[in-house]
Parts: sequence; structure tokens; C-alpha cells
Amino acid sequence: MASIKLPGFSSSLIKARFLPFNHDGSRGNTVVCIRRDVDPLSLEFSSTNSLRTLSLRSYASSSPVISAKLTTEASAKVIDGKSVAKTIRDEVAAEVSRMKDAIGVAPGLAVILVGNKKDSATYVRNKKKACESVGINSFEVHLPEDSAEQEVLKFISGFNDDPTVHGILVQLPLPSHMNEQNILNAVSLEKDVDGFHPLNIGRLAMRGRDPLFVPCTPKGCVELLHRYGVEIKGKRAVVIGRSNIVGMPAALLLQREDATVSIVHSRTKNPEEVTRQADIIISAVGQPNMVRGNWIKPGAVIIDVGINPVEDSKSPRGYQLVGDVCYEEACKVASAITPVPGGVGPMTIAMLLSNTLISAKRMHNFQ
Ligand code: NDP
Repeated sequence: MASIKLPGFSSSLIKARFLPFNHDGSRGNTVVCIRRDVDPLSLEFSSTNSLRTLSLRSYASSSPVISAKLTTEASAKVIDGKSVAKTIRDEVAAEVSRMKDAIGVAPGLAVILVGNKKDSATYVRNKKKACESVGINSFEVHLPEDSAEQEVLKFISGFNDDPTVHGILVQLPLPSHMNEQNILNAVSLEKDVDGFHPLNIGRLAMRGRDPLFVPCTPKGCVELLHRYGVEIKGKRAVVIGRSNIVGMPAALLLQREDATVSIVHSRTKNPEEVTRQADIIISAVGQPNMVRGNWIKPGAVIIDVGINPVEDSKSPRGYQLVGDVCYEEACKVASAITPVPGGVGPMTIAMLLSNTLISAKRMHNFQ
């Protein structure tokens, strides 16, 4: 909220016409409110889009036209994934506790990690910690890099048959000698909390069918839109990236919610032109700061999935994490945006916990 004070004018004189303009000359979606309780007359305004200049004129019958101009840098609302994820984790914890009290069962999540990739080990550690924090039991198998595919399949089969396990997650990527497809297909459909099983993805794509699980990162993106009251139905959405784990299921989810969806990928001609049509942008590319301010329609909502390390000598780690979207530029054009870090990242684990709870409730027929 900003304000302009107009000395020498009283609110009784005012019959005002407000002419808010966007930087591109179009009419802005600006709310102006006349404070009647203050002297001098005070006009307060807030803008949900890229307002740069606000022009005000008062046409009071016995007074000359007044006009005021104020230049401001509009700033998008921050979609705080960290805070939403915390709320979801609290909700999951409450449900887990209710389930334990009612039927004496706690949800269980099994995680299989193959090899010594540092970031994969960190993700697995974080998932385990998150499970503990909400009362979900976690089971972990860590196999050496040179394990045989059969070894992984054996553990999956054991977890498929284990009634205390309600979700199975194979940490990707797998070592290159393993067939990822064979391994993901072996996870029981009912325990596929990552939602990567082809049958779950297929059901996501089909009208009239429901997947048992929706992949965690895209589900987290759409959950953020819901919790921030962003309308999806009838909107134009552009998903940048078409990977099996983020871009493609994100596009499927948006179209299930009645958005008109376009997908931009590495072979798209004029990606900026396509992206500029979007009311909602989900970007999952892995290219730092690729989406610039001039790719964005004023007032668009941006969900930035990208997590990209870029060199930063001032940071103690020598790098900082940035998204696919140039945050500084996007903030001035979009109406809302997720930060990186602290946007989609925390939502992914929250959705995994939520999927594991859903699975346990379904298996035990617990409402
Ligand atoms: P992939 O590498 O699997 O997919 C990237 C996609 O981006 C591909 O579809 C590719 O197109 C497209 N692409 C690449 N370059 C361009 C370009 N110049 N213009 C348009 N499209 C392009 O990545 P992921 O989907 O696994 O991950 C994407 C990003 O999201 C990464 O930064 C990753 O770290 C992050 N991520 C974040 C998560 C979170 O929890 N926040 C979870 C998962 C991922 P094509 O198909 O034509 O090759």
C-alpha cells in the first residue's frame, strides 16, 4: 500500500476519477481508496500488477483539476513455500497422530538409495528427518554404486510385501548400468508415493481416471497456487520443461484443473513469445535466470521449480542457488512469485509426506 497526500483539498470536495496506468500504457488493476478521516486529503492505493506510474485527478465542482503523479516499483507477492510446507507438515503430523490413536498404525516410507552421490544422500537424509518429524516410520536401504539391478528389485519386492510399508521411493538418478524403467515399474502401484509409475502417470493424463498418487514436485506447485488463492480454471498456463518428473506431470495437472496449457521445451521456437501469453508460469528447466522480465505478462503468477547453483565468491559456499526465472526482473512484472530457495523445494518433501499418509489411510481404510 502506498499513499499520496494532497494538501489544500478536503475530502468533501473530492469527486475523483483515477487513472491508473501500467508501464505499457494499459489500464491497471489498481485499488485506490480515499481516506476520509485525515486532513490533508490522503489517497491510498495498492496495485496487483506492474504499476509504475499512478495519475490522479480530482474533479471537484468548485476547484480546479488536481493531478498527482507518483512513480513506484511494483513488487510481486512472495509465494512462501517454506511456510506453506510447514503448515502441511503440521497437518500431516496431526493426521498421523489421529491414525495412530484410532487404529494403532503409523504410516511407513521406505527409501532406496544406490551409490554415493552426495546430493542424493542429502535428499534421502532430509526425507528421513521429515518423516521422523511428523511421526511417519522410515526404512532406508543404501546399496553400493556397483550393485546389480536384481539387488534393487529384491528390496523393492520385499517392501511391496511388507504391510508396515505404505510408500516406496527409489532415489533418482540410479547408476547408469541400471534400467530405471524396470526399477520404477517394479514398485507396487499402491505404494508409488513418488507417482512415477507409468500407470499413475497414464491415469493423470486420462479424463475420468484418477491416479493413486501425483508426483510430489508438480503436486507441490499446484498446491501453492491453491493455497494462495490463484484461480487456475480458464487461465492460460505455460509450463517450461517437459521432464517426466516435473514439467510433463505439472502440465497434466494444470489441464486437469481446466487451464489452457502450453509446454515450452528446448526445441520451442520463440519461447519468450509463448511464455508471455501465460497467466500462470511453471518453470522446470535447470537454466539459471533464463526467464527474463520481458517474457512475463504483467500480473502473471510464477512458480519457479529450477534450482541452479551459480558461482558467488561472496558466499561462504562459493555459490548461490537461483531459479530458472530472473527474480529481480520478474518481481517487477509478476503479481506473485516463488523464491529460490524457499519456494517449491520445501513443498516437494511436504507432498511426499502427504502422499505417504494418503497411502496408509487408503490401505487401512481409515477416513
Ligand atoms: P530435466 O533436465 O529432466 O528437464 C529439463 C527440461 O527443460 C527438459 O524438458 C528440456 O527440454 C527443457 N529445457 C532445457 N533447456 C531449455 C531451454 N533452453 N528452453 C526451454 N526448455 C529447455 O530437469 P528436471 O525436470 O528434472 O528439473 C528441472 C529443474 O528443476 C532443475 O533445476 C532441478 O534441479 C529442479 N528441480 C527442483 C525440484 C524441487 O523440489 N524444487 C525437484 C526436481 C527438480 P527437452 O525435453 O526438449 O530436452
